[in-house]
Amino acid sequence: MSEIYQPATVELLGPVVRQWTDRSKCEPPAEENRKFQRAWDRPVIDSVLSALLLAATNETDKAVLLAALHRDSGAWLNALPAPNLRTFLRDEEVRVGVALRFGLPVVEEHDCVNCGSHVETNGHHGLSCSSSKGRWSRHVEMNNEIKRGLETAGYPCKSEPSGLSDLHGKRPDGMTLIPVRDGKAVVWDATCWDTVAVSHVNASSRKAGSVAQMAENSKRGKYDFVEELGYLFYPLAVETFGTFGVSFAELIRFVGRKIRELTGEPRSTAFLRQRLSLAVVRGNAAAVLGTLRARSNS
Ligand SMILES: [Zn+2]
Repeated sequence: MSEIYQPATVELLGPVVRQWTDRSKCEPPAEENRKFQRAWDRPVIDSVLSALLLAATNETDKAVLLAALHRDSGAWLNALPAPNLRTFLRDEEVRVGVALRFGLPVVEEHDCVNCGSHVETNGHHGLSCSSSKGRWSRHVEMNNEIKRGLETAGYPCKSEPSGLSDLHGKRPDGMTLIPVRDGKAVVWDATCWDTVAVSHVNASSRKAGSVAQMAENSKRGKYDFVEELGYLFYPLAVETFGTFGVSFAELIRFVGRKIRELTGEPRSTAFLRQRLSLAVVRGNAAAVLGTLRARSNS
C-alpha cells in the first residue's frame, strides 16, 4: 500500500518557520512558492547581507563587501585550475586573492619597500602604490588575454599600434586588423583602477563598479580621436576587486559569443571572464607582495 506524500504545512512547521522568520525578517513565501528552495534561501541571504553592510563601519569595508557581492568579482573562483589553460594560481596568489575579497589581514604591518609608505595589514597600499611591481604584469596579462580572445574569435590583432599615436601622442593597447562591427576595426585601451584607493573609495563604497566606470569614462575622453578616425573604441577598465566596466563587460560578451559560434563551446564567455579575472588576482598578489622585501620563492 502506498502512501501519498503530503508536504507539511507552514502551520505544522511552526517553530522552524518562526526561526526562519527571525532570521529573514520576512513573512513565509506565498503558498505556490513554498516548494522552491530559493524562495526560502533568498530572504535569509538578503537579511544577512543587509546586516553585514550595516556593520561595515567605514567606506573601505563597504567597498570591499559591495565588490565581493558583484558577480564579476568571483569569476576567478569558478576557474578550473589548469596550468596549460592559464587558469592556475600559485598558493600565495590564492591566499592574497581570498584575503582581499574577505577583507582579512594579508601581511604584517610594514613600510613599503618601493616608496616607504606605511602598509597596513590589509595590504591595500600595494594595490595603488605608484611604484607597485604588479601593475605592469597585470596590464600585460590583461592585454594578452584580450588579444588572445579576439584572435580566437577570428579577429587578428596588433599590440600598441603606432600609427594612431603619431597624430595624437597616445598609443592605445591594441587594435584588430580587420573590421569587427559596423565595418570598423576595434581599438582598445585597458586599465585597472584600485577599488579601495583613497581617491576612489567614496564612489566604490556606494556602488560596485563605479570606479571602473570612472576609468572607462576617463579613457573615452582621452581617446576620443580614435572614433573620429573611423575606429570603434573600447575603453576596458576593471577594478582591483574584480568588477568590470560596462564597455569591458560588453566586449567580453561579444568576444565570448563569437568564440562560442566558432568552437561550439557554450562556456566561452565565462572562460574568457575567468581568465581576465585571474589576471587581476595575479596582479593584485604581485602588487601586495611587492611591497615586501624580496625573498626566495618557497
Ligand atoms: Zn608603496
